Amino acid sequence: MGSIRLNKVSKVFGEMKVIPSIDLEIENGEFVVFVGPSGCGKSTLLRLIAGLEDTSGGTIEIDGKDVTSEAPAKRGLAMVFQSYALYPHMTVRKNIAFPLKMAGEEQSVIDRKVAEAAKVLNLTDYLERKPGQLSGGQRQRVAIGRAIVRQPTAFLFDEPLSNLDAALRVTMRLEISELHQQLGTTMIYVTHDQVEAMTMADKIVVLNRGNVEQVGSPLELYSRPRNLFVAGFIGSPK
Ligand code: ADP
Ligand code: MG
Repeated sequence: MGSIRLNKVSKVFGEMKVIPSIDLEIENGEFVVFVGPSGCGKSTLLRLIAGLEDTSGGTIEIDGKDVTSEAPAKRGLAMVFQSYALYPHMTVRKNIAFPLKMAGEEQSVIDRKVAEAAKVLNLTDYLERKPGQLSGGQRQRVAIGRAIVRQPTAFLFDEPLSNLDAALRVTMRLEISELHQQLGTTMIYVTHDQVEAMTMADKIVVLNRGNVEQVGSPLELYSRPRNLFVAGFIGSPK
């Protein structure tokens, strides 16, 4: 569970062809990073996979099933938003439990799943606090916790660390990588940060103007960039 396949997926906004046509295969359990400059279509591609945007053409398959016209909730994916998407008036416990409440889960199930997620994320001692009483890193973990409790077939992250300071970004990168190792779940991680891409990915997808320039491991992209764009983008320090 957790393989994703895009067949000639395209997206047009008005007159603008943001994604001309993308073919992509993501294997179960992979940590895939979409990287590219601002405005190249990373968020749009992620939102198409999540079902938050409709495709203009092509098909999306999850575990071999065509989900192109399925609602987001039916795709079994969890999007991790930046930590400021937390509800400030709710405790950590309630923030993490929120998607389960919405899904109408029993309270005993909710309690168990929240406790499990809190343990994985080292949040057990913070469950009764509100987001305003947490550090930036802890808030980001709560946002991840809200995804974990849904036991998704894949996690989708859209620049989750971009509002954290540099030191915390390094810590959170490691934590997300460890979480991936622990859960073994497919993760797609969007960033414009080459260092994040190189350090976290099993597979990097380099995007430029809505096109895939190259797909490969960090080592492959570094040692055998297919063109100057990839070489410049991967090679240049941020
Ligand atoms: P990235 O995440 O790589 O920065 P986006 O996917 O957000 O890029 O945007 C890609 C392009 O699509 C940009 O030119 C952006 O302005 C445009 N775009 C994104 N969403 C919309 C929308 N809802 N309506 C019109 N244009 C959009
Ligand atoms: Mg974006």
